Amino acid sequence: MIEKKKKYLMISSFLVLLVILAFIVYSWYEETPTVDVSLTFDDGYASQYNTLKYLESRGIRATVYVTNLSYFEGMKMMTREQIEDLSKFHEIGWHTRSHANATDADESEFIPGYNATSFSYPYGRIGNQDIVKKYFKSARGISWGLNEKVDCNMLEAVTVNSNNFDAAMLYTSIYSSITKRGWVIFAIHEVKDNPRQDIDITPEQFQRLLERIEAKRWRVISLNKCA
Ligand SMILES: [Zn+2]
Repeated sequence: MIEKKKKYLMISSFLVLLVILAFIVYSWYEETPTVDVSLTFDDGYASQYNTLKYLESRGIRATVYVTNLSYFEGMKMMTREQIEDLSKFHEIGWHTRSHANATDADESEFIPGYNATSFSYPYGRIGNQDIVKKYFKSARGISWGLNEKVDCNMLEAVTVNSNNFDAAMLYTSIYSSITKRGWVIFAIHEVKDNPRQDIDITPEQFQRLLERIEAKRWRVISLNKCA
C-alpha cells in the first residue's frame, strides 16, 4: 500500500514538473524575440522621406544612409532639412560624400556628415576598410547574408527589390524558424509604384515586409547593436 502511494506520488510530481517545464519552454518560445531586424535605406532619395515619416508614425526606427548629393543618377535626393528632420527619430548613416566607390575614394569622402556612426558601402564595393573603421562603428555591404556571428565592420544584408522580394521573404522566414538568435539587416532603396525592378520595392511589398516583422515578433533595431 505504501509502495503504491509512493509510486503515485512520484508519478504526479513528475507530471507537475513536466507541466512546469512545458510552460517555461512555451513562454520562452512565445516571448523571446527570435531575430533582430534592421530596416536600412540606401542613398537618401527624396521619396524616402515619406517612407521614413510613415515608419516614424508607426514607431519603427530605421537607418538611412545618405550622401551630400542633391541628385544621384538623375534622381532627386532629400534636402539637408529633411534629413535633419528625420534624424530626430531615425538613425542617419553615411554613404560617402558623393556616392563614391570606396575602393578608390579619398579620405574626405568618408568624413561623416550628420554625426553618422554607421556606414554602408556604395555599390556594395568594399574598400579602404581602415578608414571606414576609423570613422564608423559599423559598415554594411550588400551581399546576401544573415549576421549570426556579428562582424560590425562587415555586416551582411538582405537586399530586397521587386524581383527577389519573395525569395528574400522565404529566406528570412526559414532562417528565423531554424535559429533563435540572429540579425537580419534589410537593405532597401525606394518604396514606390512602378519601381525599378532590380532596385526598388512596391508599397505592397513594403507592407508585406512590415506585416512579416510583426507576425514573427522580430525586434526592430537600428544599427545600435554595433554601438
Ligand atoms: Zn548607394
